[in-house]
Amino acid sequence: DTVGRNLRRAVESWPEREALVDVPSGRRWTYAQFGADVGELARGLLARGIAKGDRVGIWAVNCAEWVLVQYATARIGAIMVNINPAYRAHELAFVLKQSGVSLLVSSTEHKGTDYRELVRQVAPECPQLRDQVFIGTESWDALVASAGGATEGQLVAREAELSCDDPVNLQYTSGTTGFPKGATLSHHNILNNGYWVGETVGYTEQDRVCLPVPFYHCFGMVMGNLGATSHGACVVIPGPSFEPAATLRAVQQERCTSLYGVPTMFIAELNLPDFATYDLSTLRTGIMAGSPCPVEVMKRVVAEMHMDEVSICYGMTETSPVSLQTRRDDDLERRTGTVGRVLPHIEVKVIDPVTGVTLPRGERGELCTRGYSVMLGYWDEPEKTAEVIDAGRWMHTGDLAVIREDGYAQIVGRIKDMIIRGGENISPREIEEFLYGHPKIADVQVVGVPHEKYGEEVLACVILRDPADTLTLDEVRDYCRDQLAHYKIPSRLRLLERFPMTVSGKVRKVELREGYGEL
Ligand code: ATP
Ligand code: MG
Repeated sequence: DTVGRNLRRAVESWPEREALVDVPSGRRWTYAQFGADVGELARGLLARGIAKGDRVGIWAVNCAEWVLVQYATARIGAIMVNINPAYRAHELAFVLKQSGVSLLVSSTEHKGTDYRELVRQVAPECPQLRDQVFIGTESWDALVASAGGATEGQLVAREAELSCDDPVNLQYTSGTTGFPKGATLSHHNILNNGYWVGETVGYTEQDRVCLPVPFYHCFGMVMGNLGATSHGACVVIPGPSFEPAATLRAVQQERCTSLYGVPTMFIAELNLPDFATYDLSTLRTGIMAGSPCPVEVMKRVVAEMHMDEVSICYGMTETSPVSLQTRRDDDLERRTGTVGRVLPHIEVKVIDPVTGVTLPRGERGELCTRGYSVMLGYWDEPEKTAEVIDAGRWMHTGDLAVIREDGYAQIVGRIKDMIIRGGENISPREIEEFLYGHPKIADVQVVGVPHEKYGEEVLACVILRDPADTLTLDEVRDYCRDQLAHYKIPSRLRLLERFPMTVSGKVRKVELREGYGEL
């Protein structure tokens, strides 16, 4: 179905239940109120002349308006373009031009970034951009007030023109391995994916889902917003961007049953000095995804955050995003050792990345996925699309995986991150998992750095549990001795206070590698 019609169904089914809570501002919406505000905003956009297929950009940190824009644009058949709030002028201009955004909704200010000033700077370069709206200002109120210029009948007529295969969303990838690519996603793509993710964690109208993950990313807007609203659950926004203490406060105050995060977010929460003082007993489930989920972290999330049913998901922006997910009754081994099994109506296979031949279960190769979730294509880039989606509609993920006999899959790494030392293929993941067991290490990333003789050698980048502590390369090597093959043992060590991250919370290994070369 379309995203708009699905929301209307939720409003009819659960009018009195809470749909959205914006914790910092204290604002709350029931489904009935939320549906009414979405409708009003949708009419405001119609009155501003937004046609079916027009691109409406949203360049904002998490807030209730983000969610309103998501559903209002979907109701009128516009294509919402999610823009990373960490982007600066150059990147913003690139996205606005590449996607042809005609109306842009932005934040005003966050953590020292003046969004208004940046929009002012790039506007002259973007002739398509004819309307700018800033959340929390008169321009936002004026957009809502324009609703008077379009009738409910006009909105219903527009909705009747929409098909579930129409594009609804243009999402840029995280840019972990290079420049972000714009994935064009249909109503069918993202609504079904959000629905199945929510169904797999077992959402009902009783659930309250805390989302510290960015909305600009599919983790927040599909797995979070669509996952919750397609089941009548409530979306809780703990703050404009991730803060570990604010997140746990929101869980406690709003009695959340579910919490999302990339592994580094859970690590930051668990390591808060006052972690034990938060009441997290209402938590039942949650989702950890986006990058490899270390076993030790998973165990602590289950034991110390009460998230017995926490789910691991694997996916990518290009596939709406989720393809693999653990199930509610999976044991800890499956929950910690795999990224789950394939979701309904999706297919997966593992191929030899060189020959393209499908490999038997248990063998390592490139993961490919197929089904309703595969994007329509990269926006306006047919050649790039053809590089990743083959003639049989299989999406080639660029991730290395093993599908076990029981159908559960393990992600062993990214093809681009593999370290090749003296002809040996090394998966950084395996070394990271091992080093997580070291008592001094809070977080660790392993990358390959150039070496004259071996081609690449192994660099371990470490964040210590206690910043006042020290750790030497010899200590690390002693710890690995007799436990790891000699060629996998790190020969370089770098202590860091934090890792370079994408806004979706992924470590940019590219920068760890490049940064090292410059030292
Ligand atoms: P870019 O494509 O721009 O380099 P990106 O691939 O990080 O960035 P996303 O679409 O946000 O952009 O992320 C998808 C990728 O995240 C997957 O291809 C995979 O490498 C990684 N990933 C997602 N979930 C998991 C998981 N559970 N375990 C391991 N890796 C994961
Ligand atoms: Mg990618």
